[in-house]
Amino acid sequence: MSAVLPVYSRCDLQFERGEGIYLYGDDGKKYIDFAAGIAVNSLGHAHPHVVEEMTDQISKLLHVSNLYKIDGLEKLASRLADNTFADKIFFCNSGAEAVECGLKMIRKYHFEKGNENKYRVITFEGSFHGRTMATISAAKKDKVMRGFEPALDGFDQVPFGDLEAVKNIVSDRTAGILIEPILGEGGILPAEKEFLQGLRKICDENDILLFFDEIQCGMGRTGTLYAYEVFGVEPDILSSAKGLGNGFPIGACLANDKAASGMTAGSHGSTYGNNPLAMRVGNAVLDIILEDGFLENVKETGDYFISELNKIKDDTYPQNEVGFIEEVRGMGLMIGVKIKGDSREFVSKLREKGLLTVAAADNVVRILPPLIITKKDVDEAIVILKNAIEEER
Ligand SMILES: *Cc1c(COP(=O)(O)O)cnc(C)c1O
Repeated sequence: MSAVLPVYSRCDLQFERGEGIYLYGDDGKKYIDFAAGIAVNSLGHAHPHVVEEMTDQISKLLHVSNLYKIDGLEKLASRLADNTFADKIFFCNSGAEAVECGLKMIRKYHFEKGNENKYRVITFEGSFHGRTMATISAAKKDKVMRGFEPALDGFDQVPFGDLEAVKNIVSDRTAGILIEPILGEGGILPAEKEFLQGLRKICDENDILLFFDEIQCGMGRTGTLYAYEVFGVEPDILSSAKGLGNGFPIGACLANDKAASGMTAGSHGSTYGNNPLAMRVGNAVLDIILEDGFLENVKETGDYFISELNKIKDDTYPQNEVGFIEEVRGMGLMIGVKIKGDSREFVSKLREKGLLTVAAADNVVRILPPLIITKKDVDEAIVILKNAIEEER
């Protein structure tokens, strides 16, 4: 009997090492890792620059606590601020913690303005924000909430993309709107630009803080540093994690001065947050992502990937009435392939053929490769995908 709390059902495969886009299994096989630890290993495995920076830091200093100044903290915060809408950044250790920080920030902002009753946050169906009590209460998804009731009070939910529903539910108690600009776990569904613009307007008119959860879609995945740039809509608060640490646990809550104004010394904290190793890793990741041409390559490779997938959908199997691929969606290297059939089974099949992907809701196979991939890597994956689809016919 395993001593591990059985909250995950794992497949029977273990990896011994990774290099770039490849993972090497204990079954002696080589896998193309287009799951990237669920959008985490943004620079692939064992990236030389990250390895070098981490190794150097490990031998010097791991942790000092937030009682002291921390090397790399000001640098990482100012780099994120300089390259985004944000003025202030809080670092923590996971995505859910970054969302928690943003939710607390929303309440504190209105509290400090004397509006204690303005605490409710509007969220959207199909969302995922983490596994803490507040984040499961926010997402209101049966699968993650069931058995953990009562949910925390203060969240009102409407369908994703339904601006009228948002307008109808907004009240003088609405404090914030929390949304993934591209639903991740929900099946790689980008919001409409007009919808996000509409949310921005509602927020501006009613002193409501707009909070984008970019834990999955941020950090270069869309071909911009954060996804909001693609939509041309700036949030007041943004949660980041996953790709920010390339596998080392780090989360960040970014905010403009207005949203951050309620947060003062003692109002929030984290023992591990800001630790010197995490700061070093975050800076190393940014060194690469902010290099000239890096994000352009993500966009270009992503466009190529999506067009190749659409070719499989449209050209290769016209005789298929519905087609095995129903829809290809997403942007940059955040791609969802909606298939006819069970995406979990198809993900297993692809894995057996040496291609790692992740299942999502709505029968979607998620393709979240490291951001360093080339068109040649895409071609290699397309061959495997075609092969697997061929067998499904
Ligand atoms: C993964 C994810 C989270 C949760 O991050 P953790 O690090 O697992 O806490 C929250 N929001 C979104 C959009 C995510 O994809």
